[in-house]
Amino acid sequence: MILLNPHKHCREYRDARSRDIMLKTIEWFEGRGKRKLKEDDHARTWYADFLEFQKREQLFATLLTPSAYGKGCRWDTWRNCEFNEILAFYGLAYWYTWQVSILGLGPIWMSPNERLKRKAAQLLQEGAVFAFGLSEKAHGADIYSTEMTLTPKGKGKYVANGGKYYIGNANTAPMVSTFGKMATGGEYVFFAADYRNKSYETVKNICDSQNFVAEFALHDYPVTDADILERGQDAWDACLNTVNIGKFNLGWASIGICTHALYEAINHAANRRLYNMAVTDFPHVRQMFVDAYTRLVAMKLFALRAADYMRAASLKDRRYLLYNPLVKMKVTTQGEEVINLLWDVIAAKGFEKDTYFEMAARDIRALPKLEGTVHVNLALIGKFIVNYFFNPAEYAEVPRRDAPENDDFLFRQGPTRGLGDIRFHDFRPVFEKSALPNVKVFREQVAAFKDLLAQATPDENQRRDTDFLMALTELFALVVYAQLILENGKLYGLDDATTDQIFDFLVRDFSKFGLQLHGKPSSTPQQMAYCMQMLRKPAVGPERYQRVWDTVYAMKNQYEMEE
Ligand SMILES: Cc1cc2nc3c(=O)[nH]c(=O)nc-3n(C[C@H](O)[C@H](O)[C@H](O)COP(=O)(O)OP(=O)(O)OC[C@H]3O[C@@H](n4cnc5c(N)ncnc54)[C@H](O)[C@@H]3O)c2cc1C
Repeated sequence: MILLNPHKHCREYRDARSRDIMLKTIEWFEGRGKRKLKEDDHARTWYADFLEFQKREQLFATLLTPSAYGKGCRWDTWRNCEFNEILAFYGLAYWYTWQVSILGLGPIWMSPNERLKRKAAQLLQEGAVFAFGLSEKAHGADIYSTEMTLTPKGKGKYVANGGKYYIGNANTAPMVSTFGKMATGGEYVFFAADYRNKSYETVKNICDSQNFVAEFALHDYPVTDADILERGQDAWDACLNTVNIGKFNLGWASIGICTHALYEAINHAANRRLYNMAVTDFPHVRQMFVDAYTRLVAMKLFALRAADYMRAASLKDRRYLLYNPLVKMKVTTQGEEVINLLWDVIAAKGFEKDTYFEMAARDIRALPKLEGTVHVNLALIGKFIVNYFFNPAEYAEVPRRDAPENDDFLFRQGPTRGLGDIRFHDFRPVFEKSALPNVKVFREQVAAFKDLLAQATPDENQRRDTDFLMALTELFALVVYAQLILENGKLYGLDDATTDQIFDFLVRDFSKFGLQLHGKPSSTPQQMAYCMQMLRKPAVGPERYQRVWDTVYAMKNQYEMEE
């Protein structure tokens, strides 16, 4: 069983402390119960009890301190993935305070400022949370236009002025990693601000939720050289490299949300009787469940495999820079599809105030939009298309990376430029080794897409047209998604029926995106002809389908959160 069931925790850990953290967290949420979870959500109660719990159990300190800065701690993506998943399984608000702490810690652990790093490690032990002050009200994704300014006052002193917008935890973080520019020369800078300083104004909570997503302003806020984390190119790189780490977690939040929602949905539908039969007897309901389940299993297989590449990364192997944005844009948008499918099944039940689903239906929408929208990530992914298809390189095979190690490289990822030079292992062998009918259909669709790229190459105008490019990149994204799912299916021993059923929806999705590209105003007759070759029907397999349905149906009554 690849999906989380808190009642039957079975993830492998090679050390007792990691398992202990996951079990204690599950126990805390279950012991507190669903009624309280929902009351707090409706009343938008600040999660002080959760923060007290994490402090008492030293959770963030253990999970978010690199091993060089404390005892018994390490930054270990393998276990952080599951912690992400568990928090979101119980509520996105709990995940968010952890997530923005990760972002806030990024520029700190990447900094050469040892004093601030030791301070952060100490604060983690004291139970503090952290914040990442990047976004500004007027500029959205355009961080080049950052207006937060540091004005030098001589002798290593400065004053900071400006506002930040949408900053989680900024109401309470003693170290807010704040991105700005020097008043003279416009050099980028990251510095640590403290919400308790009288020149720091917490203006308001922008969102109406349990989280505090702050607008804050600095008014002649005093900064010294000792508060500076990075300057110039290093500050810019720290910004993007932090987002590289952080955005990966959004996929895991989607996985946690969808898993809990799936249990609620199957419990409800299987036990509800209409016209003298169970709702799960409707063929269309079964199809929706099979799609939701296979999409969710695929999300998790992909995100786990992306974690392997992230942990294996080095300055010579930067493939994670393709897989990470895909966890961000693909896994999170798949999460929306899963919730849409489940909601169509459970209908009115999804509005009920006592359900987890009510939160899931709202929160799943956030994940594709935060830390770079789907478009921003598609634009990024597009840079890799040529090398991925036409210029593969040899790499040693990356095994499952679950060793209890500190992920040192994440905090020294190096310069962020040169994306177009990154090369990938040949995508074809893993598809060619599979004899499953839908993998074969998918392979043929990919061949048509590759032919389009080589024989009907988008012209200069099409390459400048982001609308056209997004449609093209969706097809590319699906190939990479399928590749890593197939790689990981093997590592996890996924059964053939589920793998083939996953490729059933991948074939349908490829057809959908092929049709979208076909319909773009500038597509040429030759491109349209290749798109038509991409429109394929999945191989039908009633026995395979039945086996997968049996697996989904067996999830009925397997998990329900304690009241
Ligand atoms: C609940 C919440 C919590 C948040 N927490 C934090 C936080 O803790 N710290 C922080 O710094 N920020 C935080 N943010 C900000 C968040 O990261 C931004 O909202 C997000 O990056 C998108 O920016 P925007 O919504 O302003 O969209 P805009 O940048 O205004 O984008 C507008 C449109 O243009 C498109 N677009 C923009 N640039 C490009 C591009 N290069 N290529 C293609 N299309 C593009 C977008 O896709 C979008 O459709 C938070 C936001 C929310 C809502």
